Amino acid sequence: MSRNNKKRVIVIGAGMAGILAGIKLKEADEYDFTIYEKADRVGGTWRENTYPGLTCDTPSHHYTYTFERNPEYSRHFPPGAEIQAYFENTTAKYGILDHISFNTEVTAAEFTDGCWHIQRKDGQTDKADFLIAATGVLHHPNIPDIPGADRFKGALFHSSRWDHSLNLDGARIAVIGNGSTGVQIVGALTGRVQIVKHFQRTAQWIMPMEDGDFSEEEIQLFRENPEALAEAMDVETYNHNVELYTQGITGQNPELAKTFQQPCRDNLENSVHDPELKERLRPDHEPMCKRLVFSANYYDAIQHPGAELVTAGIERIEPEGIRTNDGVLHELDIIVLATGFHADQFMRPMTMKGLHGTTLDEAWATRPTAYLAVSIPDFPNFFMLNGPTGPVGNFTLVDIAELQWDYISQLMDRVNSGQCDAICASHNALRAFDAERLEAAKSTIWYTGGCNSWYLDAEGIPASWPWNYRRFVDEMNAPKWNDFDQLHAGDLNNA
Ligand code: NAP
Repeated sequence: MSRNNKKRVIVIGAGMAGILAGIKLKEADEYDFTIYEKADRVGGTWRENTYPGLTCDTPSHHYTYTFERNPEYSRHFPPGAEIQAYFENTTAKYGILDHISFNTEVTAAEFTDGCWHIQRKDGQTDKADFLIAATGVLHHPNIPDIPGADRFKGALFHSSRWDHSLNLDGARIAVIGNGSTGVQIVGALTGRVQIVKHFQRTAQWIMPMEDGDFSEEEIQLFRENPEALAEAMDVETYNHNVELYTQGITGQNPELAKTFQQPCRDNLENSVHDPELKERLRPDHEPMCKRLVFSANYYDAIQHPGAELVTAGIERIEPEGIRTNDGVLHELDIIVLATGFHADQFMRPMTMKGLHGTTLDEAWATRPTAYLAVSIPDFPNFFMLNGPTGPVGNFTLVDIAELQWDYISQLMDRVNSGQCDAICASHNALRAFDAERLEAAKSTIWYTGGCNSWYLDAEGIPASWPWNYRRFVDEMNAPKWNDFDQLHAGDLNNA
């Protein structure tokens, strides 16, 4: 397909996973490739989220590619801006920028004549042998339909669209939502602005964490001595703990779950002093049912005179502020919607058509799914990084993407080496995988823990990987070839 006889790959998205794909494709030197990115910079979620307090709750040095550690992190948990800088620097260092077409949104993809035909928003087209979706998960903001929002006199925006032109000094700010995002914003703004009103619909458990700066000496040591960094990271112990966490969360070992839950319960008990506030902050579901919120400062912030927890329901937004259903008008200058994302969109609204005219919406009519989170029947030579049914929310997405890439590259090799012309999971394989997955999902704490969350699909079944970390690593090790349709030119022409 390409001029030099190499097969061509199109990657959609230049966030963490798309950059990874670029680095690996360049390193392998087997393919021609282009990464299409709809924005003007790399970084994905770290480009879009710039809200005050933005921090990743994975320990800093573990939030990197395994082949490119980052000694420069200033804190034990990485600030969003430092993660963004890391991805920008890594993209440049590995020479990936030349492969990225910025400001280029892919709107449609169709598999015909044995390859993927791409439609771009600017009207141009392209084609490739392989298509990789690295479009992220928590990407499409959930904007609640609150009556009167359009009449608010102040500024109102989603947390992933922070308006940095605003002067926060003396501002009265509402934060709606208390997931990881809302909790981080409240922690960062309280004491800096006149008042932060935190609108909580459902109380959340807060896992305490100890953040802090690395000293200049430590950073210098990590820079000069990768072994010291490796020792400090202790990947083996870290992965062991991830394994235990996933055994607890997936219901395989309820005793282990309790050891992770207890610090959340103790945190509420020991950190919140006013008994009435403590009860308002006490969730009615089990810790870890919703995506666990980690915070070093939330309980301090919400007890600060510059913060107020609002648990009355939101009735409407008025020009002056938010009216709650107890009749109170909360006068405000800024309303931040920390209301999460549509976690079921993946590469949509892009439309896709695979073999036999099957559309993505048809394939996903019941729920978004993919065999081992990577491949969809009838969508040959199309693979996803951090696609549906993967372990999103369980362990670091960077680790997941690297493991998935190693797996995907084996599928691509199968085609590149001429053993077949196209490959995708078989219908039987996906059916068997989904049946086992849906059954296992009902043992997870996301299902049994008595809460609602973005983990749940439209039928209330957790959409995330319902097994432990080890199983994911083992599955990604080597494809089970019998689970794949390995197609030849004749099959494709007749499709
Ligand atoms: P989220 O966890 O989905 O939380 C959304 C919040 O908005 C919930 O508290 C929800 O209340 C509330 N909400 C939604 N619609 C509402 C409405 N109409 N009225 C009142 N409240 C409403 O979203 P998020 O905090 O942005 O986090 C999403 C995910 O991003 C996290 O779970 C995490 O995986 C990731 N994240 C990670 C980090 C990190 O440190 N690694 C930081 C930020 C985000 P209910 O609970 O009642 O539904």
